[in-house]
Parts: sequence; structure tokens; C-alpha cells
Amino acid sequence: MVEGEEIRIGVYVCHCGVNIAAVVDVKKVAEELSKVPNVVVAKDYQFMCSQPGQNIIVEDIKEHKLNRVVVAACSPRMHEPTFQRAVERGGLNPYLFEMANIREHCSWVHEKEKSAATEKAIKIVKAAVAKARLLKPLKVEKVKVIPRALVIGGGIAGIRASLDIANAGFEVHLVETRPSIGGNMARLDKTFPTLDCSQCILTPLMVEASRHPNITLHTYTDVVSIDGSVGNFKVKLLKKPRYVNEAKCTGCGVCVTKCPWTVPSEFDLGLGKRKAIYFEFPQAVPLIPVIDPEHCMYFQKGTCRACEKFCPPKAINFDQKPEEIELEVGAIILATGYGLYDVAKNMPEYGYRKYKDVITGLELERLVSATGPTKGHILRPSDGKEPKKVAIILCVGSRDEKHLRFCCRFGCVAGLKHAYYIVSHIPDAEVYICYRDIRTFGKGYEEFYERIRSYENVKFIRGSPMEILQDADGSLYFDVFDANTNRVVTLRPDLIVLETGIVPHPTFKEVAKVLKCSVGPDGFALELHPKLRPTETSVDGVFLAGAVQGPKDIPDTVAQAGAAASSAIALMSRGYVETIPYVSSINEDLCSGCGICQPLCAFDAISLVKKEDGKQVAKVDISKCKGCGVCVAACPSGAAQQLGFDDEQISAMVRTLTG
Ligand code: SF4
Ligand code: SF4
Repeated sequence: MVEGEEIRIGVYVCHCGVNIAAVVDVKKVAEELSKVPNVVVAKDYQFMCSQPGQNIIVEDIKEHKLNRVVVAACSPRMHEPTFQRAVERGGLNPYLFEMANIREHCSWVHEKEKSAATEKAIKIVKAAVAKARLLKPLKVEKVKVIPRALVIGGGIAGIRASLDIANAGFEVHLVETRPSIGGNMARLDKTFPTLDCSQCILTPLMVEASRHPNITLHTYTDVVSIDGSVGNFKVKLLKKPRYVNEAKCTGCGVCVTKCPWTVPSEFDLGLGKRKAIYFEFPQAVPLIPVIDPEHCMYFQKGTCRACEKFCPPKAINFDQKPEEIELEVGAIILATGYGLYDVAKNMPEYGYRKYKDVITGLELERLVSATGPTKGHILRPSDGKEPKKVAIILCVGSRDEKHLRFCCRFGCVAGLKHAYYIVSHIPDAEVYICYRDIRTFGKGYEEFYERIRSYENVKFIRGSPMEILQDADGSLYFDVFDANTNRVVTLRPDLIVLETGIVPHPTFKEVAKVLKCSVGPDGFALELHPKLRPTETSVDGVFLAGAVQGPKDIPDTVAQAGAAASSAIALMSRGYVETIPYVSSINEDLCSGCGICQPLCAFDAISLVKKEDGKQVAKVDISKCKGCGVCVAACPSGAAQQLGFDDEQISAMVRTLTG
């Protein structure tokens, strides 16, 4: 439109079937609006969003030379883009359009006051016309997307997402804080309900990820900072020193054998031992050891160096330093996974860490694993004997107002699997499963439950233990009220397995801070919409995969990883992103450079810059701005204005509504 041109507005009042028309006299609204200055045409129609309804707008723009359009209908959340496209088809800038909500704001809330509702609708539409007179064309900018992705977290979710993106032809950088990829799944012996060997299905994927030409693995590496926005993130990583030259190391393991110092193994959750130089686990990827300087005698006392002496290719390098790595990526996938609820600290009544024979389900996985501390034999940690009576306690910390309010979604079926482990390894053992409800929602889970229920030596007790205590002879016992029989049962198990609740992985908090993405009240990453956009976050271009979003079993984790990868692929394949037009705009003449707006912006979109004349002013990065309006409301000079919602436009609406 040409500046100074006569304002010619078309107004369209929708019946929305009977949603609006049964309460508001839509004909009267159109008639009243036709008398308002600058309105050259005002019509009502049954369904404005339908194709014929949209065509009325397109044709009227041409016939009546309209340069503004107002539609009075439902919420703009629903159909604003529909009408903007129609306005564009008519040849106008799509932002020369205003929508008046006379359904949610009028007919639905004034069902019994038809005449007053009609008067209110007239006012609402007049206010929209007042704003429409002041509308200016807005622009959408296209920002290039770097065709490279960062995946944070090397568990099954991160591996799956990386492979999907890499197979689509894009470069991927997979970052894992531990020395090997694999995550919690690498600790499992079997997966439910099919009982297939966890390592057998995970290891090929780990190897594939390490060999994929499009994937660069960054193990033993942390994310330090992430700047920029969708399509153009700048990432800083810090690779921790392994004190082993990765290019020279052949993974022979001589160093590990020769190292004389042993400490509890993190991978075996303290049940087994590792050396001061160690592979995280036998199938680690990459198969490169790492020296733990806190326990290495050379680092602590300046002696030993056995690993260096015996390493055939001379790969040990005690002088290795942390290495900073800088990357530019277009999309990010968060896949940091989960950690276990701290039962020892928060639920001392279970005696975990106080009594050696109270272990977690994940610790049982390590006992059962052939590569675990007992080489696959289920032996009590206290005396190395086979337990003949085992209690498995479900929901430890989960679904509990005082601890974690949510269900961990896999504890019940994991408990059933653990009962299977016990009876298949020790056929004459008795297993008692103490439960509140058994939740078996997944595919094949109910059938698995029935199978375990059919075992004669697996008994189900509906109740939680009161407190786990120890007799003078060292044996453990607890009372549990069985709600099925209305009796208190006293159990004296040789081994107690706790199916603990889960929490976000400890690394997630820092990553969320770096990314400024929203976190839910449960501490997990908050998705953009729980049903419609479960893999997206409040930060455009950052997607969620797996338990970082909330408790998930392996099938759901893998499915979400695929969905997150598809979202990243779609973004990178398109090659550009469009900015939103309703961003904040700073009038540099009015800006005093006070900087009040800068820390208030939740999206880090404002920076303070010095102009050529030395004056400091605020500057908005439109690729980061979400148009929330916080800076606009805070600016004491009126220098920050939100395009499409500036002070003049809002004041005109307020004057019309209150006048
Ligand atoms: S001895 Fe040397 S080559 Fe062999 S695993 Fe250790 S560091 Fe690598
Ligand atoms: S409108 Fe919101 S997102 Fe945009 S710069 Fe202002 S505070 Fe930041």
C-alpha cells in the first residue's frame, strides 16, 4: 500500500454455524460496522473460514480496493493464519489483517444475554477496526539453517536420533559426558517383555554410530555454552583429558591389566571394581581407556606410571589438557536421559546403603550381567551367597506426594523382569513382589505379567514395607500390610531389590540452563505442547528425545528419538527458517541505553551496542525474539515497540472500547 493512501477496510462477521449467530445478531453487527468511517464493505457469512468464505474476502479486496481486512469470528489462535493467507491471495500484505474474537470473548460467555452480547460484539469489532486503520505491512525474514545437528546424550535416545539424522545425509555431532556412549541401557542384562539381551541390540547401534561417516562422537565431553538461535547455534564443548592418545591407542587393555590401583566402578554402581585406568565397560565405544586422576598414583603421588611403561604403542600421555571444541549447528537434540532417585538420602526407612543386601533394580542388572561384578551370578553383596528368598519392592519414591508424584512408567515391568531373573538363575528361590498397583500399559507387558504371575515361586503382596530392619544376626526383615488378605505379613528376605523412581539425569540441569529451555515442575524438560508438540521445546530448533522429557520405557524412548530426528531433518532439509513478524523494535532516537530490557528478555534477544556516535542503544536479534512484549512493557522511554501491537494501535483499541 502507498503511504497517504485512503484507508479502505472490509469487515466480515462470521456466524460460526450457530456458535456466534445463536447469541449475537450478526446482521446487526455488520450493519453497524458499515457505518464506521473507513469501512467500505461489511458482510456476514455462515462460515468465514470455509473456502467460499475466504473467497468473499479475496474478491472484495479486488472489487472494493480494500487495503485492510477485519474478520470477526473465533480465536485468532485457530484461524488467523487462514485469513492472513486469504488476504495475501487478494494481493495485500498478510499483516494488514486484524481478527476480532466474538466467539470465546462474547457469544460463548454471554449465552443468555443476546442483546448485550450483540452490543459487546459491535464494540469488539469497532476496536479491531480502530487498530486496523493503524496497521502497517510487516516483513518475515528468512534465516539460513546450518545443515548440521548436535545431539546431547549418548544413550539409546541420542544414538537412535544421531543415526536417523546421519542416514538422512546430515552431519551430526554426538556429545556424551561419560567415556563411552551407551547410557543406562548398556547396564541392563535383558529388556522386557521379550527378554532379549540388551547389549546384543544396543552394541551394534553403538558401533554403527561410531563408524558412521556423518557422525562425529565427542565422548568424555561436556557442553559449556550454546549461543545463537534456530538454524544458527554456536556451541562450545569441553573435552576432558583421558590421558590417552586416542589416535595411538589400540584398545588392547594392557594398561588396565598392569595398573595396580583399584577403586569402585561407577558403571557397576559400586558393586564391582575398576582400575585407575579403565574402560567404562567391556563393549565401550570408543574402546579407549581413561585415567581417573583422583585415583591414579602418578597424579596423586608422582609414582607408578605402569600403564605408560607397558603400553605397546606408547599412547599414555599424562600431559594431556582439556580441549575446547567449537561447533556451529542448525538443530539440537536433547537426549540426556535419566538418573535414579536418591533413596539413600531421601528414604532412609528402606535401608539402602545402610544394609549391603538392599540393592536397586539397576544394581541387580549388573549382578545378572555376564560382564558384571559377579560374572552373571546373583550373589548377595554382604557374603557372596546365593539368595533363596528375595523381596522386590515396587514404586520406591514414585507416585508418592512426599517424593516423586509421577509414575516411573517402567518400574512395575522391570520388577517383573527382575523376578524372572531370580527364578531363572536360582530355580529354588522364592520371590515376593510388594506392589501398590501393577501398571503394564506397553505392548506385550500384560502378557509378560501373566507369565510371571503363573510362576509358583513368585508371590504378589499388595502393600509397601513399613521399615526395613536388621536382626542381631544380621538378617533383614520388614512388615508389610497385604491389602489383598487384610493381614500384616513379616518377610525375612536374603536380598531386597528396590525399584526406585527416576529423576532427570544430573547433567540436564546445566544443559537446560545453557540452552534456556523450559523445565517442568518435576525437573524434566518441558515440551512445547504435551499432545501436539511433544518433541519440541520453548527454544526453536531444540528437540527432545527420550527420558529427558519424562519417564519412558525403551520403545517409547526410541520412538521419540525418531520423531525428534525427523523434526531436525525437516528443519535442515528446508534450509531456512522464517522469523516471526511481531518482534520488538527499538527506536534508537528514543532509546537511552539504560539496559533495563536486556536482562528481562527470557530469550536472550537483546544486546547493548555502541553506535558510531558512541551512544549506547539496545538491539533486538529478530531470530531470537519471540514477541512476548516484556521489553516493551519495561522500557521507560517507550523506545521498545512491538511490531503489530505498538502503543498507538493498542491505545486506539482501548479508546474505542472505553469511549
Ligand atoms: S595399553 Fe596403550 S594401547 Fe593398550 S589400551 Fe592401554 S593405552 Fe590403549
Ligand atoms: S519481545 Fe520478548 S523476546 Fe522479544 S526482545 Fe523483547 S523480551 Fe525478548
